[in-house]
Amino acid sequence: MAYPSGRSMSWRSLVCMDLDGDLSMKNNTEVAPRMVFADQRGRIFDHPSLGMVCRSGWTFRQPEPEELIPLPTECEFFLLPGRRALGWDADRGKVTAVEQTAVAAFVSPGFTLNAVCAYETDTGAPTLPLFAYAAVGFARGRFWVCATQVDTDPRQRFDNVAPQRIQAGARQWLKSFPKNRLVRHLADCALVSSCPAARNLALGRYEAPLPTSQTCNARCVGCLSLQPPDSGFPSTQNRIRFRPAVREIVEIMGRHVQRESRPIFSFGQGCEGEPLTEADLIARSVQAYRASGGMGTVNLNTNASLPETIPDLAKAGLTSIRVSLNSPRDEVYARYHRPHGFGFETVRETIRAAKRSGLFVSLNYLFFPGISDRPEDVAALMELVNVEHIDFIQLRNMNLDPELYLQLYADTRESEAKSGIGLRRMIRGLRHHAPQLRFGYFNPYLG
Ligand code: SF4
Repeated sequence: MAYPSGRSMSWRSLVCMDLDGDLSMKNNTEVAPRMVFADQRGRIFDHPSLGMVCRSGWTFRQPEPEELIPLPTECEFFLLPGRRALGWDADRGKVTAVEQTAVAAFVSPGFTLNAVCAYETDTGAPTLPLFAYAAVGFARGRFWVCATQVDTDPRQRFDNVAPQRIQAGARQWLKSFPKNRLVRHLADCALVSSCPAARNLALGRYEAPLPTSQTCNARCVGCLSLQPPDSGFPSTQNRIRFRPAVREIVEIMGRHVQRESRPIFSFGQGCEGEPLTEADLIARSVQAYRASGGMGTVNLNTNASLPETIPDLAKAGLTSIRVSLNSPRDEVYARYHRPHGFGFETVRETIRAAKRSGLFVSLNYLFFPGISDRPEDVAALMELVNVEHIDFIQLRNMNLDPELYLQLYADTRESEAKSGIGLRRMIRGLRHHAPQLRFGYFNPYLG
């Protein structure tokens, strides 16, 4: 059958459909989606008999009912080149491949994947670009995805925002600050790269991005701002190519606070390197902003590699840090982040320095189903949360070709748990052991 109501549609038109779904965390005890696939013309169909299959680590399986939600608003579909869709053959009790192309969903910010798309990859298939690939199926006249809503903040929703408002906002910034290079950079991010943070800045709302750093002391496999030519996929953002001046940073902070009553400012963006390599510049900028009476949450998204920089940043007026990690286990952490001159123990030292300095500490736990929720990783996460008194966990998706990510850990396939305990069970376990811990997707406003 083709979609919807018997009409066949291309994935592009499906993206624009009103897919506003029930975002509640209801247990969908009865839904049993069918497999979806795409034909050569890019039209998406559901299979007449095969059921939906998803992937957690190396395990291909049917989704559990509580893992499924209706496809949220502002999601998109991906047709996966060189990858054949997999479905569940109930008669034979096994997973079966079809000849047609696999289809995945990109879920909107605020949702974290319970499982990724299941497919069989042909030899020579290109590496997938830096996104997260949710398992998707079809039942009861709508699409379903394996995802959980972890944050209801509408911070990165733009479905009710006319593009003209963003364009006008960016032009106004350029007009007000013609000599500010950082304004020019962020206007480009908003208008050319469609960066959600930069679009919000243009609109004068929520969290203002403040990129500063051109270099990094890690080489994360899925770095958004820099990829070597032989990686097989491009970076999704362009790394900043100049060092902003204190004046340029403070001008942006000063204007944003006039427009947003609960402002958040964030150093450490997708279009830069590691902000702690510019700790002195950031400390001087924050200090100048605070000295002029500047209010709001000043946050720093970081790889937490330089603990000695934290006390001065806190003294200058920083409110919080968010530490990115794919695992609290050094051997798992190192293979993805490929740190240069530091290890996970240094990350812990930075967290301790931040807590000692009175900062609010979030983890940006880059979640990949079947790896991040393995019992070994969850136990290590619980230990980290409890010992270091972590305040908040942001559950963001690991944006990387799933097979490339799994290859990093292929040798642990036999020695470690075969699959994860599931995102929801992981959250429930962490809540039980650390009742003070909060969860979300975005940096919280802390006053
Ligand atoms: S820490 Fe950030 S900037 Fe550095 S390599 Fe990793 S993702 Fe890229």
